[in-house]
Amino acid sequence: MVARAARATDLVDLDGAVSDCFACPRLVAWREEVARTRRAAFRDQTYWGRPVPGFGVADARIGILGLAPAAHGGNRTGRIFTGDRSGDVLFAALHRAGLANQPTSVAADDGLALRDTRIFAAVRCAPPDNKPTPAERDTCAPWLRREVALIRPTLRVVVALGAFAWAAWWPALREVYGVRPPSPRPVFGHGAHWSGTAAPALLGCYHVSQQNTFTGRLTPGMLDDVFARAKQLAGVD
Ligand code: SF4
Repeated sequence: MVARAARATDLVDLDGAVSDCFACPRLVAWREEVARTRRAAFRDQTYWGRPVPGFGVADARIGILGLAPAAHGGNRTGRIFTGDRSGDVLFAALHRAGLANQPTSVAADDGLALRDTRIFAAVRCAPPDNKPTPAERDTCAPWLRREVALIRPTLRVVVALGAFAWAAWWPALREVYGVRPPSPRPVFGHGAHWSGTAAPALLGCYHVSQQNTFTGRLTPGMLDDVFARAKQLAGVD
């Protein structure tokens, strides 16, 4: 799997290869079981039921790093943050920031396009309870590393959605950029910011999960502030 990731010559190649990954037995079983049993509201749909590739442009200056696809969101539609409430919140914010051409993301063929931005997850398969194991995170890391390597020429800032994504960035920093992560690691928080000299800046943002957005822990204004800061750091108008 590491070799397949490393061989990917561009994002199209990488997206195709990751979609055909079966490296984690527990996650393969879960993604396929969810696709088989489905949620009642989506009973008439055919679920994607496979790893979910990144989404966005190849010359992204802003990367958005999430945790993993949702069982009935990306695992259903085949596109990250698509078809669930987390995606509703995220893409509405990206649209307000001028980074998405529309505020909604409901299906892989809905016409959504990003500007200067690429979204990807630390783990590419939907995990039970949204909790990948450390071993699954590490097994999936080569896909993230290769994706970051492919957009490295333009990438200037990474927005980590949640503490899991924040923690998943440091190994990628070391492997892709040859930069030793700071020790101790900077603590995740909403608005946390780390900058190195030879690598993209890292911005922390509470995850766009329902748990955070329904409770008001993460508001649209807070997201707007993070993306305004990301655009500034990335030199995006
Ligand atoms: S989580 Fe990643 S490494 Fe594991 S099966 Fe899915 S795509 Fe492959």
